[in-house]
Amino acid sequence: MNRNTDFIPFARPSFSKEEEAAVLEVLRSGWVTTGKAATELEQRVAEASHVKHALAVNSATSGLHLALEASGVGEGDYVITSPYTFTASAEVIRYCGAHPLFVDIEKDGYNISPENIERAAASADSLNGRIAAIMPVHVGGETCKRREILAIAEKAGAAVIEDGAHLQPGPLLTDDNSILVYSFYATKCITTGEGGMVITNNDEAAARMKTMRFHGIDREAWNRYRAKGDSSWNYDITAAGFKYNLPDLLAAIGTVQMDRADEMLKKRQDIAARYDRAFGSCSQLKIPESCRESSRHLYILRIVPEQLSIGRDELISVITEKGIGLSVHYRPLHMMSYYADKYSLQPQDFPEALKRFENSFSIPIYPDLTEEEISRIINTILNTCSRYRRD
Ligand SMILES: *Cc1c(COP(=O)(O)O)cnc(C)c1O
Repeated sequence: MNRNTDFIPFARPSFSKEEEAAVLEVLRSGWVTTGKAATELEQRVAEASHVKHALAVNSATSGLHLALEASGVGEGDYVITSPYTFTASAEVIRYCGAHPLFVDIEKDGYNISPENIERAAASADSLNGRIAAIMPVHVGGETCKRREILAIAEKAGAAVIEDGAHLQPGPLLTDDNSILVYSFYATKCITTGEGGMVITNNDEAAARMKTMRFHGIDREAWNRYRAKGDSSWNYDITAAGFKYNLPDLLAAIGTVQMDRADEMLKKRQDIAARYDRAFGSCSQLKIPESCRESSRHLYILRIVPEQLSIGRDELISVITEKGIGLSVHYRPLHMMSYYADKYSLQPQDFPEALKRFENSFSIPIYPDLTEEEISRIINTILNTCSRYRRD
């Protein structure tokens, strides 16, 4: 690493004085667990997303688990999903005793292919279990082909649970009946440190998730303690629920992040536009296909292997050495030993996912990147590509 310059991390959250003040207010209020700050955040996200129900949870992983449980996914069921994702998408399927049925991503993108979903759904008879749900992932914040997927699911009688961990809360579901889960993890578009939000228009699923989110208790803790004249001990347990509620201490940060969400999105869009211009004419690289709908959570570059004298891994090492933090989204799940061993999967089973994994790397894109840092990222990558150009 160049000693004259500081390392630019791959991701960094953006906080202002407002987030600090919001946390202090909760600390001093005497109520730090789930209460009115969580309710306020839920209302903000429900408004932004134009949905009936928004449920704050302590992680997107918890939210995805709640969504599957509320959709009736159980022992021996199958859930069609993408191998091109973070393990959370598939591990929650295992929590339910169900199995992920991986299908490959699209020919030229990073999202699950509706054609492949349809083919998998059509072959359901050969499975020793039903296809209970489909879980698409909006990779990098680029919305997947959800209209087509919703139609396939309806025909197959399967629920749709959308992994929206890379999305920023906004209108998407309109009047659909699917369940979508946002992540507020430290690296995501808006963050509460750890946290997430489940949104849906499905009343029945929302009611079930509300109960299961907090121990299977039939009423919210906050109501229990606050309701005048009622006793906090007077509640019933209707199921063996989970402990997935989001504390006010974190929710308060989320409301401020929601205030700043549009401004932060604009910053990421501006950075993406600069990257597009800078790398668009570099023959060693392929820029992401422009997508106006994207939250721009990730900026994934692809190498053109024929044009480079070094491989992707070595390219990452060289650029990292020069002080730029990079990442890879993703080493696909079918290439992770747990899934590979359990379901006897080979890297070539999902050739598009394999190709994308081998050629892609993600570069920093977050609102607090300075002009100087953006220039350094661009120059370092372009210089490295030209140094290793294949003649
Ligand atoms: C981050 C992430 C999750 C999990 O989010 P948490 O809030 O950390 O549980 C799930 N799916 C994808 C695609 C992610 O990137």
